[in-house]
Amino acid sequence: TSQFAATLRQRVEDAHHREQARIRMEALQRTDALRLALLSSVSHDIRTPLSTIKTAITSLGEEDVQWDEETRRGFIASIERETDRLNNLVENLLDMSRIEAGLLHPERIWYPLDELILDVLNRMDTRLQGRKVETHLPNQLSPVELDYVMIDQVLTNLLENAIRYTPAGSPIDISIQQHNKEVVVSIADHGPGIAPEEREQIFDKFYRVKGKTSDSGTAQGTGLGLAICRGLIEAHGGTIHVEARPGGGADFRFTLPLSNSGGMELL
Ligand code: ADP
Repeated sequence: TSQFAATLRQRVEDAHHREQARIRMEALQRTDALRLALLSSVSHDIRTPLSTIKTAITSLGEEDVQWDEETRRGFIASIERETDRLNNLVENLLDMSRIEAGLLHPERIWYPLDELILDVLNRMDTRLQGRKVETHLPNQLSPVELDYVMIDQVLTNLLENAIRYTPAGSPIDISIQQHNKEVVVSIADHGPGIAPEEREQIFDKFYRVKGKTSDSGTAQGTGLGLAICRGLIEAHGGTIHVEARPGGGADFRFTLPLSNSGGMELL
């Protein structure tokens, strides 16, 4: 019987190893499938602007066609727009891989967050297309330890989204609430909002809500913006999420710790 017990044990072990190997194999295949899906998403995002640029250049170069001034300008504007888009994509991809590789090191300085917000709004002025931006900033605000460039990028991304996904002219509210250990920044719009089941997924890289295009039609995103925002905020020891704005719309909220006890590493 001890012979039998040994054989049995061996067989059970073999089966266990086979099962483990199968699980590893499936995991690898899943990673491969995911990588392929990501790659084809990026390829698509590169190809679309490229083919617009190619068409515009080919048209401009046609010798036997005399384009009127407006059309000619239109071609050039579309080349500019699509090149910007490609540049954006490359920058986003680099940011994303830096975040994933853990190579993001915020260079923190003490800075008044309300000033940063006003800087961003000034810089974005022309892109707000006449939208009203209401700011609700407390009078007494402690400076926050932050990487200026990174938080600037988060605010810019969130504002760009609020412009891109809500009807022209609809207002945006920005507010800061100061608590004991953190500040909460809210960027709320009056757009279609985000369905409850998608409020986490939109922070995944390349995730875009299906069937919703921008009102301008031109400014197509890459699905990386919010994933980058989350990476940048988490590098500061903060959190970011979206909730429904009472009365309709999306309310993106992020926190930044007010002291080292809030999650930032002590040097
Ligand atoms: P992108 O804007 O490049 O698609 P993001 O990561 O910035 O990528 O956003 C992911 C998705 O979340 C968008 O495709 C959009 O569907 C949705 N979204 C983002 N911001 C808003 C908003 N303010 N209102 C409604 N939907 C939004």
